[in-house]
Amino acid sequence: SSFIKVGIVGYGNLGKGVQQAIAQNPDMELVAIFTRRDPQQLAELTGVVTEHISAAERYIGQIDVMILCGGSATDLPEQTPQLAAMFNTVDSFDTHARIPEFFSEVNQAALNGGNVSVISTGWDPGLFSMNRLLLQSILPEGEEYTFWGTGVSQGHSDAIRRVPGVRAGVQYTVPVQAVIDGIRAGETPQLTTREKHRRECYVVAEEGADRGEITNTIVNMPNYFADYDTTVSFITEEQLAKEHAGMPHGGFVIRSGVTGTGSKQIAEFGLKLDSNPEFTASVLAAYARAAVRFSREGAAGAKTVFDIPLGYLSPRSAEELRRELL
Ligand code: NAP
Repeated sequence: SSFIKVGIVGYGNLGKGVQQAIAQNPDMELVAIFTRRDPQQLAELTGVVTEHISAAERYIGQIDVMILCGGSATDLPEQTPQLAAMFNTVDSFDTHARIPEFFSEVNQAALNGGNVSVISTGWDPGLFSMNRLLLQSILPEGEEYTFWGTGVSQGHSDAIRRVPGVRAGVQYTVPVQAVIDGIRAGETPQLTTREKHRRECYVVAEEGADRGEITNTIVNMPNYFADYDTTVSFITEEQLAKEHAGMPHGGFVIRSGVTGTGSKQIAEFGLKLDSNPEFTASVLAAYARAAVRFSREGAAGAKTVFDIPLGYLSPRSAEELRRELL
């Protein structure tokens, strides 16, 4: 049958989002959630069958695909190869520089297990990567731009919170609107890091902390803020909870190309997301369907968004897609 039985590994923002996404896809059923924490305790939160991750092996044959929702820094490099040996998997590994080595490790494990593992899907990497490839292939002469935001960057928010005197804080990456407007109007500038994005920080300071010093430390922090125009605003704990609790994100991939004897061709893909994890989770659910379909055809190994036929993402038949969407 085309029915798809799903497991979720890791129950953070993404894991919760996947649980919600599965509920929106009638061809999918959630079998169990796997965690490294005490599963009995977590079950109160999940409301469904919750298992320790070490029990995953017992589910071979009962789960068609595991959606891996761990963090990219340390969880997925360990969890994806382990689970790819036992199940079809999908993950959102987003450390761009490490994707080649991650791919080869997961590929080996998936081939050994005879499974399909879709790695690094989501929106970037994921839908943005797909659009970069699509637009470069169609418009070989041109310039390409990726902008992110306005959105919360977890890594930069963590960096702020480590500054002495900071109690809490959040960082937004903001694309520079004037630059985007120029590109949309046909300009093809060469842009530095500083020219593309701004960084806005909202900080709750400890009582008596030196705000000037906090600001200085943040804006001059190498790798995170020194290469950007960064603003720091001090807010209260209440403001932080009320105005900055969401996880919005988004951005654009824009290709500004030229064809023929100078015809301008500008193509753009954009996202405006109220919830980054819920959207990413929805992408993962669609790719879980594709992974299972690929696997049922006898495929094995690691795959990326570049390798997955678009039609496999849909629960509808190829014939129906030709008739109604083509
Ligand atoms: P997260 O909330 O920090 O969750 C990561 C893991 O931490 C969970 O799987 C969970 O594992 C554990 N965890 C979560 N809450 C916990 C708690 N209260 N106490 C103890 N452990 C907890 O991270 P996330 O926001 O879901 O993001 C996961 C990854 O998605 C990110 O690292 C990022 O790389 C990736 N991502 C990719 C894209 C893309 O476009 N490709 C977009 C967004 C995010 P256990 O249940 O096993 O404890």
